[in-house]
Amino acid sequence: MICISIIADTTETALERMDRASLLADIIEVRLDYIRNPDIAKIMSSRQRPIIITVTPAHQNGRFAGTEQERCEMLLDAVRLGAEYIDINDGCPFMDELLARKGSTKAIVSYHNFTETPGTLPDIYDRLASSGGDIVKIATFAQKPGDNAAMLQLIQNASLPIIGICMGAFGTPTRLLAPLYGSYLTFACLEQGMESAPGQVPAAHMKDIYRLGDKRPGCKIYGLVGNPVDKSRGYLLFNRLFHVHDLNSIYLNLLVDDIEEFMSNMAPLLEGFSVTMPHKQTVMDCLDDIDPFAEKIGAVNTVVRRDGRLAGFNTDAAGVLEPLQKRLSVRDRRVTLLGAGGAARAAAVGIADAGGRLSILNRTASRAAGLAGELGCACGTLADFNPAATDILVNMTSVGMSPDVDRMPVQAEDLRDMLVFDGIYNPTETMLLREAAKNGCTVIPGLEMFVHQAAAQFLHWTGIKPDTGLMKELLQ
Ligand code: NAP
Repeated sequence: MICISIIADTTETALERMDRASLLADIIEVRLDYIRNPDIAKIMSSRQRPIIITVTPAHQNGRFAGTEQERCEMLLDAVRLGAEYIDINDGCPFMDELLARKGSTKAIVSYHNFTETPGTLPDIYDRLASSGGDIVKIATFAQKPGDNAAMLQLIQNASLPIIGICMGAFGTPTRLLAPLYGSYLTFACLEQGMESAPGQVPAAHMKDIYRLGDKRPGCKIYGLVGNPVDKSRGYLLFNRLFHVHDLNSIYLNLLVDDIEEFMSNMAPLLEGFSVTMPHKQTVMDCLDDIDPFAEKIGAVNTVVRRDGRLAGFNTDAAGVLEPLQKRLSVRDRRVTLLGAGGAARAAAVGIADAGGRLSILNRTASRAAGLAGELGCACGTLADFNPAATDILVNMTSVGMSPDVDRMPVQAEDLRDMLVFDGIYNPTETMLLREAAKNGCTVIPGLEMFVHQAAAQFLHWTGIKPDTGLMKELLQ
């Protein structure tokens, strides 16, 4: 079940938000501590969904500044008015009285820790479970990916109904995965900016993007491992593809700063994952097998679990080659590659492997020379660009990327009679592509690279070749 937590300054605003939340949520929580002089009777009579009434005191990161006696009275008012649930925080001096007088209202006995996820979660659960409440709620702050795994394990082993959450950017995975492990509900916000706790996901995303309601037992978990991951759009693609192919799977962003900690504690829950900066190289030390092509590139962007072993692949080269080969066979073509960073490296290995005659040009000549030395090809600086000796130009520098959209790595007048591929996908149409198209060149936008490398990942994970046209549409 999805529970939207309503925070509002006034009863009127809360009612308006409750109305909207009713379209998305199974349960609604109203945080009375946020509302000035809340009209509990009006809130109760206007509800269209079962309601959780919560009055969090200031010393527990809430807004309620009155006495504990007054707080207890508000919760008892909610009970008298027929609230389906009340939240009683661990340590509430009126816990026994509230439990004795709650009638048919279900009591959620809650523990919050806003600084860490303690190693004593099972002890905390035991204490709350023995209090006499109906449902245990444990919300802790995640400092690392493994905290999610500890919370999910707690949920899985609980005998009482339990709501388990890790808060914060590292904890977002529990908000999406806890229901799959048996959490009674998961908290969502009504919309971005209306989070009642850090790391909450909008309810509409839970329903329409992650499709939590469709998941069945045995749901396979995938994700993007990186830092940062909040700008990545892969979750839009993969979750849609899972839906289109009726796969009981979910894909989510996983913020990871310590790859070894992630591999030890969180990776065992996953069937596979994408890897982005800064972990593409370091993840290689944590895998059982590495594809020779990824070994040659020196980076892994795709991990697959097969027969209990984790294997690493690199699909970035396929992301460059497939769109190129659709337009022009690379074999024996003169390819000028701009850049010598991570993306350029994957492109260079792929192009050389496909028989392209490669020249690598880079701002820092020594980096170009290093890569060219490994592949046995020509190199130089960007000033050495020779359009007369170029059939295909591939830009893998970040020149022209948002926000510096009015820049390009070579002169516009040099862009003639060649195929121009820009790896940049933000903006979708770069200055390089615009100028090249003006001069009559065929152009390939970076979005195609993104789509094709993602399609190759999907194939590794599922054995299904997805529709790249649909993927492009989704991203556009
Ligand atoms: P990276 O490892 O940091 O490499 C950046 C490259 O850009 C280096 O060659 C660097 O040259 C060059 N560069 C940066 N600023 C420059 C400037 N002001 N003038 C000239 N050259 C400059 O980054 P990356 O991961 O390879 O990414 C490179 C580009 O590819 C980015 O725009 C990224 O968005 C894009 N990309 C696209 C996809 C996709 O799916 N479409 C995937 C990955 C990357 P130096 O060596 O001199 O620093």
